[in-house]
Amino acid sequence: MHEGYEWKSLRHRALIACDQAGIALTPLREAVLHGLWKARSPRSAYELISELSEAQGRRIGPNSAYRILKLLSAAGLVRRVESKKTYCLSGMPDGVADILITCDGCGHVIEVSAKGVRNLLDQCSDTIGFQLSARPTEIAGRCHDCD
Ligand SMILES: [Zn+2]
Repeated sequence: MHEGYEWKSLRHRALIACDQAGIALTPLREAVLHGLWKARSPRSAYELISELSEAQGRRIGPNSAYRILKLLSAAGLVRRVESKKTYCLSGMPDGVADILITCDGCGHVIEVSAKGVRNLLDQCSDTIGFQLSARPTEIAGRCHDCD
């Protein structure tokens, strides 16, 4: 998903997204984004905190890290992968991903926008009268490199 991202263009998008979300891209928030960008693969909060603390040369508390991840998620820059309990960069410019395909081997995540799937799920939830709270739908598999 983010192999093609240059840090400069991600940072540029982050500045715009944060501005639209009414938050500032503080050095620490930028460091979290940069850490995810550099990792090139989803990270658990624990891994992020550890890598961030090392990069910053000081201990970053879990509360600050979770707060930052929540803010960056709300701004559409970071996505939590529920099934893997990890975080990755979100590459969807409009933040709309209907399916997350995750690799059981390397953890790689691909975001897919699929209006047909979205409509089908909306239709199903209407029919059965069940409000869906977990979106996007996560599907596990093995990527080309791991297969
Ligand atoms: Zn893989």
